[in-house]
Amino acid sequence: MENKAAVGPATLSVWGGETEHPLFERATQVPVVHSVSFAYKDIDTWHNVALEKEPGHIYSRNTNPTVRAFEDKVKVLEGAVAATSFSSGMAAISNTFGALLRPGDRIVSIKDSYGGTNKLFTEFLPQLGIEVYLSNTDDYRDIEAEIGRGCRMLYLETPTNPTLKIVDIQRLAKAAKAVGALVVVDNTFATPINCNPLALGADIVIHSASKYLGGHADALGGVACGSAELIKKIYHYREINGASLAPMDAYSLLRGMKTLSLRVQRQNCSALKIATWLMQQEVVEHVNYPGLSSHLHHDVACRQMRGFGGMLSFSVKGGLAAIKVFLPKLQYAHMAANLGCVETVVGPPLVTSHVECTDAERAAAGIPEGLVRYSTGIEEVEDLIADLAQALAHIS
Ligand SMILES: *Cc1c(COP(=O)(O)O)cnc(C)c1O
Repeated sequence: MENKAAVGPATLSVWGGETEHPLFERATQVPVVHSVSFAYKDIDTWHNVALEKEPGHIYSRNTNPTVRAFEDKVKVLEGAVAATSFSSGMAAISNTFGALLRPGDRIVSIKDSYGGTNKLFTEFLPQLGIEVYLSNTDDYRDIEAEIGRGCRMLYLETPTNPTLKIVDIQRLAKAAKAVGALVVVDNTFATPINCNPLALGADIVIHSASKYLGGHADALGGVACGSAELIKKIYHYREINGASLAPMDAYSLLRGMKTLSLRVQRQNCSALKIATWLMQQEVVEHVNYPGLSSHLHHDVACRQMRGFGGMLSFSVKGGLAAIKVFLPKLQYAHMAANLGCVETVVGPPLVTSHVECTDAERAAAGIPEGLVRYSTGIEEVEDLIADLAQALAHIS
């Protein structure tokens, strides 16, 4: 794919990773190869494949043709040289840390990272002798100062969950490069349709494929993209650690990704309309969406994103009591913990991303009790707004 004329993301969503694979019996779709192992007729060929001197597969914990097609599709969409996949987004993150960090290393990151990532930072990495500094997410100066004190890795996530803060990748990657630190970016919320962190100076970009990439909330997976050298190290750790993506899930993700560009473009448009509408509602206190000119880092979002994404959050008057009344009234939204799929999904961070926080910790993170996380689906936006209007009417 890379050697062909440059094409757009919708074309890559459909064709990326699929054209270079020998098609089984002329099938137009990537076959699901469930086989755990691959058999050889002679020892020399087997040996050469094992030594990576010849293309081929040996054992599906390491590589598998269906899984490889998924990795290649994400790779071309992120403009990366290499990609490797995992059984979940958290496996992608923890295996990347396992492969690249050593006792005594220091990592600089932000307070608003994904809940599971935050647990790695506060609970597990310190146990391994890795020092973690978590900065206030919108305090770029503090992040730069802490990078300046020296670190092995800068770990970023943008937009953040559930407050939709924007982190300036280019600016902070420059500071990290100056001290020789690796830059890792979780691009799950933005998707490769809206942002390509590698082009902004990141070394590794990570996705939870369980969200927008798959888009149908029916397969768990994760992926890391970057240079051949870095991905080889991460792949090696994963092949031994064993957190491999299953072929059937790789197929579901591949199938979902064909419509990635279509879905995300629609979700970008709908979320902006919904955020703008919510701003005008009497019962709505505050709306977090990077596409609004009132957003603290709208200018950064405009520079580094091609669209502002389908995620938003908002708080309503009356706090938790009010959202307990209004959320169950929504007809076209699942109340659930996931996000990034074709259906609209809502939930309070109180029971989703920040369920393990104390009230004080949540308040310190700028998450009011009455905050609602809203993952815009692909329904008609007029229907979603009408649904919000009738549900919100119950509390006004
Ligand atoms: C969901 C999510 C993860 C974890 O992914 P899983 O596939 O659930 O393990 C990591 N980062 C972000 C931003 C997420 O939304």
